[in-house]
Amino acid sequence: MFYDQQLREALDSKGASRKCPSCDSQGWSTHGNLHVPAEDAADVLTAYMLVCQACGLIRLHAAQVLEN
Ligand SMILES: [Zn+2]
Repeated sequence: MFYDQQLREALDSKGASRKCPSCDSQGWSTHGNLHVPAEDAADVLTAYMLVCQACGLIRLHAAQVLEN
């Protein structure tokens, strides 16, 4: 599991934009990871959650991609 700085570094290494697609701000808070249920209950994704500090947009990034 990544914590704040590791998560930001992983996103940078994958080329993820820091710009919010809703308001163009670049200020994000990180909120650890959560489990996202899929249609098949056995297929649960782990995702990292970030919240835009300007407009509140929530974005999720799949851990299986960021951690590889
Ligand atoms: Zn925003």
